[in-house]
Amino acid sequence: MLRQRPAASARAIFLALDRARAAARSLYVHVPFCFHKCHYCDFYSIVDRQDRQEPFVARLLRELAAIAPWAGALDTVFVGGGTPSLLRVDLWQRLLTGLHERFRFGPVAEFTVECNPETVTPELMGVLAAGGVNRVSIGAQSFEARHLRTLERRHDPASVARAVALARGAGITRQSVDLIFGIPGQTVGEWEADLGAALALGTNHLSCYDLTYEPATALTARRDRGEVTPADEDVEIEMFAVTLGATRAAGLARYEVSNYARPGDECRHNLAYWRQEQWLAAGPSASGHLAGHRWKNTPRLDDYLSIDDGGFAPIADHEPPEPVRAIRERIMTGLRLTEGLDARATLASVRAECGHTRAAALASRAEWHRASGHLIEDAGRWVLTESGFLLADGIASDLMGAVD
Ligand code: SF4
Repeated sequence: MLRQRPAASARAIFLALDRARAAARSLYVHVPFCFHKCHYCDFYSIVDRQDRQEPFVARLLRELAAIAPWAGALDTVFVGGGTPSLLRVDLWQRLLTGLHERFRFGPVAEFTVECNPETVTPELMGVLAAGGVNRVSIGAQSFEARHLRTLERRHDPASVARAVALARGAGITRQSVDLIFGIPGQTVGEWEADLGAALALGTNHLSCYDLTYEPATALTARRDRGEVTPADEDVEIEMFAVTLGATRAAGLARYEVSNYARPGDECRHNLAYWRQEQWLAAGPSASGHLAGHRWKNTPRLDDYLSIDDGGFAPIADHEPPEPVRAIRERIMTGLRLTEGLDARATLASVRAECGHTRAAALASRAEWHRASGHLIEDAGRWVLTESGFLLADGIASDLMGAVD
């Protein structure tokens, strides 16, 4: 039985927005199912029990129908998780048909689906390609069985090459591979070997994430009990340097702190996040950004399934438009990009919203980082140097501090 009109649903946010002005060009869809919970992971996911896949897709299609009027022609769609490739193929067919019925796609829309290598089959790749998916992001994490065990990833390293080949064979021309470095016990040489194995696949995009110990994860609890030892900072710095060298030699350029691509193959969907553009979001725990509003759907699948406010999802969190918060967000994500942050526009916004003193403080902090060699000003943009990228979060926090 569906409960109607919960106290907090996304309906109120959407109905307050002018559809013509709030037309998102990007859509994120969250599929929450996984084989099991990897112990370093803090994404919202639940162990798949197959029985909830069908009601989930039916509920998701209702939400997609509810939010679709606030979309323009979509330029990017990203289905993440969780493990989207765990969805049954017949449900994928239903979801893809439903997406095309509800949304207009732009002529060169980028459509990405996250896949775990062990779940990639010829049948699934065929259905995704036929449904307009033109990019897959494959969670390899490592090509060393020992490190995959440490991460509690269950796939066989050889399944990554097989997944890439199946995607290509189905006509999905863009593949990205996700890797993790700084795994306990991993040497710089082993990381270099992982990078080499990923680059040898000839993919056009690589994401290389430093293993992080998120609060309330099993990995963090194991670290706190002394069962695993995090990598030394010096080792991680060396791994960053190795990553830059190997990707450059393979023709991939860094465009974000952790992301590398052949020119033109950058992930346009993630760029939309980092550039603070607008996007719609559907599925449990998915977060959207529209006309300055930010909201997050409830992360609990049971609530997502049972609370249905005219298709809109129950929300866990909502932040109305707030100019100073928007400036802070632009600083935080803009500095992560090698294209940097528009210094003049940022200073003008700070002057308008916070006054001349704060704008002068921001300019002086930027100057200090420039003098320290961590930032340059290039064509009116603040761009981090290679040493600055190692300190990206700290520098962004410092600049944001000037705005508070
Ligand atoms: S497969 Fe991915 S989303 Fe699922 S638990 Fe593991 S890391 Fe998290």
